[in-house]
Formats: sequence, structure tokens, C-alpha cells
Amino acid sequence: MADPSDRPLVVVIGASLAGLRAAETLCQADDPPRVVVVGAEPHRPYDRPPLSKKLLAGEWDADRVQLRQAEAFDQLDVDWRLGVEAVGLTIGSSVRGGRSVELSDGSSIVADGVVIATGARARTLPGQAELDHVHVLRTLDDALALRADLAAGDRQIVVIGAGFIGLEAAATARSLGNDVVVLEGAPAPLTRAVGAEIGSAVAALHADRGVEVRCGVRIESLTDDAVVLADGERVPADVIVVGIGVDPVTDWLDGSGLELRDGVVCDRFLQAQRVDGTPATGVFAAGDVARWPNELFGEEMRVEHWTNAAEQGARAADNLLCSLRGGDAEAYAPLPFFWSDQYDHRIQFLGRAGADDEVRVVAGSIEERKFLALFGRDGRLRGALGVNAPRWVMPMRRHFLEGTSWDDALTAAAELSA
Ligand code: FAD
Ligand code: NAP
Repeated sequence: MADPSDRPLVVVIGASLAGLRAAETLCQADDPPRVVVVGAEPHRPYDRPPLSKKLLAGEWDADRVQLRQAEAFDQLDVDWRLGVEAVGLTIGSSVRGGRSVELSDGSSIVADGVVIATGARARTLPGQAELDHVHVLRTLDDALALRADLAAGDRQIVVIGAGFIGLEAAATARSLGNDVVVLEGAPAPLTRAVGAEIGSAVAALHADRGVEVRCGVRIESLTDDAVVLADGERVPADVIVVGIGVDPVTDWLDGSGLELRDGVVCDRFLQAQRVDGTPATGVFAAGDVARWPNELFGEEMRVEHWTNAAEQGARAADNLLCSLRGGDAEAYAPLPFFWSDQYDHRIQFLGRAGADDEVRVVAGSIEERKFLALFGRDGRLRGALGVNAPRWVMPMRRHFLEGTSWDDALTAAAELSA
């Protein structure tokens, strides 16, 4: 039998969705490499979407959010190092064993390949660390702490930020009976993800349930019992949820020579780039932390949604195997997709919205709370968003892949819903 140490060793940094999918892909390959997964959290990989929905609502317990059943997890031939952080990466010039990952427990792992899947961490406001009633929502532990503060259903909740976290947490908190106010800096919720017009339509879903979404406000400070705005107004708060975006986790890569620019900068195959523009052979990135040129859209992007993390983790691992063994790597050029559940409404989005996109509601209506809106730019279809309209959104997928023009996409969408 071959000495196991003859097999190449791949280390995956980050034990969440992208890291798990990378590890599974590596383990399922013919003649698999040895795989080590390093994860900062003590937990086995778990799913984040329920953290703002069913788990936060108290409908699911923590064991329901595991990404794999215990048996499937145990069957993976992976050396799990959980509760340990990677604190540095050194990239040498040799192909075999040329990368060294330093860990917070003082050990290091010399590897043939590395997948960076360290995701993102929640931004915070000045002073919030000292206040127990102020929460972020990124990890299972964050969600359990916030859940304990919402469960009574009789509190005054102030949510700062009307992005995905803010709106989903607001919906869950309100559904439990709490009074909820959302404070957003931009002119409308979700502006960056879906533009101001559709963002305002989403705000209306919250107004229907008695949640006030106040836009264009500036936060001055947080106190024991209020959020103080720049004009001096105090918004009373028993509990505060801060959902003001995330930063990709790249600080541990400072000094590695990799190009870091709002994420780990990769080529179209997800191979990381060095600051001098050359590829860092054998080092790949995936998930919320990865920035790469998506050829389907002709633009560089970093995507902070579930489907991308899953698909990109698998693609990064496949391409890493090609780089170790020879073989044709495949460019990663997906059609981005996300969903968001707020109250009993399901929002789905295919594509990529931009600030200058033309937006047309092509089926249903905002008033009915069931509609399909298309986003177009430069004569091309860029996005399709549905509220409570899965049968209208998903068939639009092929129009992105076929490069259907904006005019033809409008016609196709109208026929679809006729
Ligand atoms: P992460 O899930 O961020 O995982 C990265 C992991 O790496 C973490 O466990 C972290 O501890 C670990 N790590 C970081 N640094 C180190 C280090 N130095 N060493 C070792 N380990 C490290 N998307 C949707 O499309 N639909 C939804 O409805 C939806 N709901 C969501 C709800 C919530 C509450 C949250 C937080 C996210 C939601 N998302 C949703 C987004 C989706 O969950 C993320 O895009 C996805 O989790 C990204 O996966 P990832 O593996 O890239 O990163
Ligand atoms: P987000 O979607 O980027 O939204 C953050 C919002 O907060 C933006 O509207 C932002 O406005 C606003 N904001 C920023 N600073 C502010 C301030 N000081 N005061 C008031 N508003 C402020 O980020 P998020 O909602 O925190 O979500 C975190 C991550 O989880 C994201 O990666 C998100 O994709 C992911 N997530 C996804 C889903 C889903 O896909 N369904 C669900 C939950 C979480 P500007 O844009 O103007 O800065």
C-alpha cells in the first residue's frame, strides 16, 4: 500500500459552506489528496440562512442547522482542526509542499495546495462591544444570544441597517410580537443589492406588518436604552441589532504576498493572485472572501450569498486538483442567485443589479405583493427579481445563459406571465 504521505496534502481554511464543499469535492476525487480543514469556530460546519429565520424565531434548534448529518460528517476522510485559527500563510516557490499555514495554537501545516474560505465578519459600530443588548448576527452563537433577547416578544427592537440581515432580523423579531424600527443610512433598503425602487417595494412589506423602516438617517451613538441619531433624536431601544454589512476575512493573509482588495483577488479559475500580478500556484479562494472576474457578466465581483459559496467551493477544489495533477481547469462563470425570506414573503434574485440599471416590473404588481422585475443595462438583461413569484423568476435563468437582449427578455417575461 502506498505511503499516505506520498499523497499531496491540501489545507482548507474556513469550516463553513465554501470550505465544506471544497473538502467534500477533494475527498470525492479519484485518488484523493489528504485534506485538513481549519476552522476558527468550535462548531462543525453549519448553515447560516436559518440563523436569521427559523433558528432566530425559535422554531429550530441548533442541531437542525448542521450542514451535514453527524454520520456523513464522520465519514469524510478529513482531519478537522476546529476552534483553531489560521494566522499566516507563507507561499514558497516549490510546487510540492511549498505553502505553509501558521495556526493560532503555534503549529503550522506544510501543504501542496490551499483553499481560502474564511468568509466575512460583521461590521460593528463604535462602542457596541461594551453594550450587552447590542447584537450582530453572523454566527450560531450570535443568533442564540439574539434569540434569547427577542423571545419574550414584548421588547422595543431597533435594527440598524436595512440590508439582508437587518430586514430578515426585523421580520423575525416582529413576527415574535416585538415592536421594531429599522434605521437605514441609504435612501432605501437593499439599495446596493436591488436598487432604490425595488428596495422601497421591500420596505412596504415591512410597513404592512407595522415595522417602520426609516431611511436616510445617521447614527450618532448607542446608549443603554436608545439609539441616538445625528440630529439628537433618541430612538428608544431595549435591544439593538447592527446589520451594517460585512468585511471579508483577509487580515490573516497580510504579508502573504497575495493581492487583497476587498477580498482575495483571484483569476477566472479562482486561483489567488500575488501583488505582482502573477498567480499564486496552488492557492485558491472561494465563498464570501473571494473576488474574481465573472466572465458571464464581464465584471469582477465578490458575492455574499449561499449558492455562490457552495458552487465556488466545489469549483475552487476541482481547479486546485487540476493544478496539482495537470488537467484543464474550468473558469468559474456562474449566474449569481439569492433568496431572502421575510415574513411569509419569498424574494428571489438572479443576476447582478447595478446603480444605473433600468428596472421594469413586468408581471404582477408591487401592490399585490407578487411581482417580477427585470433589470437591464446596455441592451442586456442584468437581473430578475421576484417577490412571491418563483414560477416567473426561475424560467428567466436561460435568458441570462443565452445572452438574450433586454428587449427580447422583456417580451419573454411578459409572455411567461400572461
Ligand atoms: P462563512 O459562512 O462566513 O464561513 C467562513 C468560516 O471561516 C467561518 O466559520 C469563520 O469562523 C472561519 N474563519 C474565518 N477566519 C478564519 C481563520 N483565520 N482561520 C480559520 N477559520 C476562519 N445567503 C442566501 O443566499 N440566502 C439567505 O437566505 C442567506 N441568509 C443568511 C443569513 C445569515 C444570518 C447570514 C449570516 C448569512 C446568510 N446568507 C444567505 C449568506 C450565506 O450564508 C453566506 O454567503 C455563506 O455563509 C458564505 O459562506 P463562506 O463559507 O464563504 O463563509
Ligand atoms: P448588507 O446587505 O451589505 O446591508 C447593510 C446595510 O446597512 C446597507 O443597506 C448599508 O447601506 C447599511 N448601512 C451601512 N452602514 C450603516 C450605518 N452606519 N447606519 C445605517 N445603515 C448602514 O449587509 P448585512 O445586511 O449586514 O448582511 C451581512 C451579510 O450577510 C451580507 O453578506 C449578506 O449578503 C448576508 N446575508 C444574506 C442574506 C440573504 O441572501 N438572504 C440574508 C442575511 C445575510 P449602504 O449600502 O449605503 O452602505
